[in-house]
Amino acid sequence: MSENSTRVCAVITEETIDAARAAIKRAAHVADMIEVRLDYLTDFDFKNLDALRALLQNSSLPAIITCRAISEGGRKKVDDDVRLRLLAEATRFAEYCDVEASHYEQFLRFSPDTSHLIVSYHDFSGTPANLDAIYDRVTSMPAAVHKIVTRAVNVTDSLASFKLLERARADKRKLIALAMGEAGLITRVLGSAYGSFLTYGSLGTGKESAPGQLSCDELANLYRVHRISRETSVTGIVGSPVAHSASPAMHNRAFAELDLDFVYLPFEVEDLRNFFDHFVRKDIREIGWNLSGLSVTIPHKREVVSLLDEINETARKTGAVNTIVRKDNRLIGYNTDVRGAMEPLERVLPLAGESCAVIGAGGAARAVIFGLIERDARVQVFARNPLRASEVTDSFGVKVSPFESLESSNAQIVINTTPIGMRGHSEGSSPVPRSALAGRAVAYDLVYNPLDTRFLIDARAAGCRTIDGLEMLVAQAALQFELWTGRKPPIDAMRKAAIEKIAERLPAEDKSNKRV
Ligand code: NAP
Repeated sequence: MSENSTRVCAVITEETIDAARAAIKRAAHVADMIEVRLDYLTDFDFKNLDALRALLQNSSLPAIITCRAISEGGRKKVDDDVRLRLLAEATRFAEYCDVEASHYEQFLRFSPDTSHLIVSYHDFSGTPANLDAIYDRVTSMPAAVHKIVTRAVNVTDSLASFKLLERARADKRKLIALAMGEAGLITRVLGSAYGSFLTYGSLGTGKESAPGQLSCDELANLYRVHRISRETSVTGIVGSPVAHSASPAMHNRAFAELDLDFVYLPFEVEDLRNFFDHFVRKDIREIGWNLSGLSVTIPHKREVVSLLDEINETARKTGAVNTIVRKDNRLIGYNTDVRGAMEPLERVLPLAGESCAVIGAGGAARAVIFGLIERDARVQVFARNPLRASEVTDSFGVKVSPFESLESSNAQIVINTTPIGMRGHSEGSSPVPRSALAGRAVAYDLVYNPLDTRFLIDARAAGCRTIDGLEMLVAQAALQFELWTGRKPPIDAMRKAAIEKIAERLPAEDKSNKRV
């Protein structure tokens, strides 16, 4: 699989020997190594070395054998002497065995040979401040590879893993360093380029052995880890929440389609200034990566303006930035939401002189209102709370009315910029009654999940032409892509990637958390 030295290690977390054998076979297609977690097996005889030989006999990939102690995240209680003896003997069939640093001395009683040993340290609760001392202690234990895994509570914690990899490189040691949890994702994707001996991947949803673990498929095909190097141009989305954003799927698919040495990552960030200090600002950032640009989303589009060296005219006039380009070490802010929102409409009809009703007056509405005014359309805003909305509408000099008065407006174009109808929010609801859509030319919903909202279904029934939120989603992303790469984006590939991502079920959607 590997184009560079990156090793994706598929973790085998099956509960039966038969299922583990099948998983080992599957891993050969998506990974470079396997780690067999014996402590997940419920039908395995830990005293029988032949059982291990049989389990591995058809494996074509180098294997790590692990049988974790319960105290270090293991699944099954196995007597320490039994498990350490098995691990010591496992390297007769496997490349490596993985033993916790806390059991190192005990392991040596069964095998003084450490040339196939991975000594590992885990912190499941956080990233300790004294990681350097932990590195000193763990690496004082002779082994083939050392491993230090902590949990990232926020993205800044990931930096600790990169610093350890830097030390290991200087010390000429093989180290696996990564941070568990969603916030540690960048260590799993970029770690190998910074020298991590391997990166672990699951064989699918529900098969992860640690929080935040990506699948082998995501590592190899979404993030293309085998071609990431320190020269790779890094881009990504900064916001909160970003875990279910379709942007990584769209941009990474587009980079792959054009074979560009770029990667796009999700950055879950609450404290924007802190993120800029540690990851973005050239003078003080703590990671030496080739940052090319960022997407900015809720809730940072306005705050980010003050952190940039320059902003373009549209961003200045809307007071919001959704795209940052790093050029000659300067950070330049753009707003592709405006053109992204307008292009799908302009493909349907010319906007000059057209009467438009904008429902909602939040962040997305700002881009829509500005774009419509810029194109000489006549704009009226409808909001549930006109007083609150006037903060936005006053800045554009447009009129705001309560939702109910939409019915009596003569607007030919109706645009929903509220989240009403969105999956996980109020799926199946519409911001307006169907009767309010009769006689309009076009109904445009910014909501893209689901693609077909109640608002659009009603609008079609009322005879309107409809535009779904996917069109804007793809259009604003395509403009970002062009700003970062200077290349024409493969729009169909981006659209397809977005549709696939949107079709994924949200983990929370079975819970009854709907609200309107
Ligand atoms: P936002 O800044 O939070 O604004 C939401 C607006 O909707 C506010 O005016 C809010 O009114 C109103 N609203 C929210 N819930 C409401 C309800 N139950 N009844 C009536 N009004 C309600 O959010 P945003 O960033 O503008 O995003 C809005 C929607 O657009 C989201 O669904 C988002 O996914 C979608 N969007 C799509 C794209 C795309 O590319 N297709 C891009 C951006 C956004 P109050 O001020 O009274 O709360």
